[in-house]
This record gives sequence, C-alpha cells and structure tokens, in this order.
Amino acid sequence: MKVTTAILLLIITLIYVAPVSAGVIFNNNGLSGGSRWDASERVVFGAGERSLASGLRYSLQGGSYEAYRDFFTWNELPSVNAFTYTVKSAFNVWTSVDPISGLGTDLRFVEDFDTPVQGANYLNGGGINRAGAEIDLLAKNDAYFWNPGNSNLQGETWFSAIGSSVDLTSGTKNYDGSTAIVGADLTLNSNANAVYNLDIFFRLLTHEIGHALGFGDVDVYSANFIDDNYDGSAGSLTNSWASAVNVFNPAASPLSIYNVGNTPQKSGVDILMESYGLGISSMNPANNPNPLSNDDYGIRQFLYPYISVPEPSSVLLLLLSLALIPITRKTHFSNKSYT
Ligand SMILES: [Zn+2]
Repeated sequence: MKVTTAILLLIITLIYVAPVSAGVIFNNNGLSGGSRWDASERVVFGAGERSLASGLRYSLQGGSYEAYRDFFTWNELPSVNAFTYTVKSAFNVWTSVDPISGLGTDLRFVEDFDTPVQGANYLNGGGINRAGAEIDLLAKNDAYFWNPGNSNLQGETWFSAIGSSVDLTSGTKNYDGSTAIVGADLTLNSNANAVYNLDIFFRLLTHEIGHALGFGDVDVYSANFIDDNYDGSAGSLTNSWASAVNVFNPAASPLSIYNVGNTPQKSGVDILMESYGLGISSMNPANNPNPLSNDDYGIRQFLYPYISVPEPSSVLLLLLSLALIPITRKTHFSNKSYT
C-alpha cells in the first residue's frame, strides 16, 4: 500500500475585514478525494489512535483551561468558567444540527488533557507534529505567519495527512482518492500585545477548528470553491446545499468547483471559513453563538456525510403531529398568518 506523507499548511487567519468570497477542501481533484479524518478506528505508528472513532481528542498547551487562558492577553480577564465554556463551545458548534438542512453530524470532540500537546517548530516557527492529542491547541508568539511583537488576532493550523484512503461517516469503505488526516496543531497568536476578548477568541478558535477538520479558507483557495450554483452573485454563495451531497460518494454530488475569486467582500456573504474577517458582519456578528453558514455546513456534509435515521420515538412523534395537524392548522389560521 502506498503510504506517503503529505503535510498541509493551512491558514493564516486575520480578523481584518478585507477580501473575501465564499467551501474548500484540501488534497482534492475537483470533487474527488479530499483530506478527512477516518470514520473508522485507525492506529498510526508513534501517534496512537487517529480517527473519529471515540471522538476527536483535543489537548491544550499548559494542560488545563486556566493555563491555556493565561497564555493570552485579555481586554478583560475571563473567568475560568467563561473561558472553558468558550473553548468547548468552539468545538461543539461543529457538532450542531444544520438549522436549514436539518442534518446532524457524527463529529464528536473529547478532552484529552492527560496527553500533553506536541507542537512543531521547523518551518519558520510553524509545522505539524502529529503526536500529542489528535488536535493540539497551542499558543505561540512566533509562528509561521507571525513573529514576536505581532499584535494581530490570528491563528494558524496545520494538519498531517497520509496517502491512505478513509472510511466515510456514511459507511462507504476506503473512499477513493481520499487521504487521512492523522493529527492537527492549532496555534493562536499569544504575543502580549495581541489583546483578545472572548467573542473574538471564540470566532477565531471555531474557524481554526474548521481547518483541523480539513476545511480550507474560502477566500485564499478561492479557485477551489465547492458550490451548487455560483453565478457571481452573493445570493448564489449563501444558499444551503448540504442536502445535495451524495452521502455515499460525495464526488458524485450535483456540485461543481468554481473560482469565486479573491474579490472584495460581498455584502451578505458571511462564511465562517473566510480567512479575512471570519465571516463577521452585522448578519453574523462576533457574538453569534453559532457562526456556521450554509457553506460551512455544506462542506461538513461533504467531508463527513451524515445519514439521518429517524428513531422510533421520533417516528411516533411525527405520526402524532400529523394526526394533530388538522386541529393545529385551524388554530393557526384563526390566530395569525405565516410568512
Ligand atoms: Zn483560515
């Protein structure tokens, strides 16, 4: 079996609002391939278990939420509880149900603070060490994309992928052309003059976790944008297409690769995976507890296709609600109209 090692660099992430555009994956050929975490248990030599099985394990530099918090400068020091909630929330939004398509996910994240983080420092301060937890959260004042003294609120994430196909979350075995992510190092700028508040920290961390899952920056890799209907307009970059993904063979989905260009930010396009601006806007404000857009959910479904199976209790509820519809409808119409 061919086992090559590919190292993937991802991501500078600035908070500046600048160029933008609209989902992007890595190591793909058109809609084929792509780098994902394996849905099936996988043991990697020297790194241990590396897959979605039993959840993706994450660890923090310093070994606790409090220690990790204290690497950073804050405009107002958050309590340990508030910081803990913020970090957990940044992971948990990736497990949320897509409010438009109704699709859930098999992604799960679990704390693994007993495994110390293991970072890398071989590429101008950057790089990936696949050992440590599956996702290591680091704090550095000197990384690939920034140097000591840099005050930008930014992060960089690298993952290590091996040339070995993965099983998909939908049950497809050895998905053709795919490569397996086996470790990610996520680093946030901890220079003393980079001053965070919890909202920005949350948004930045959530974005970087996207990279650790195999998502690319839509405005940096804009020639590789996956969409259903892009025609140059903002509206064609914001509709939901997650339900269009062929769960057993995403490459066979009725989707295409578009070059959406590194164009000035389009009004109304607020994708979390935008490198510049992180999708922050009046429509997707920094304090939005769920900043994932339709395109973010679309790529999640593309990389980690989810099959929703109604449980017996929901079927029963559905039947009950169907039985209630005549009554409910009457009530609705007598009270107000719906748009
Ligand atoms: Zn990014």
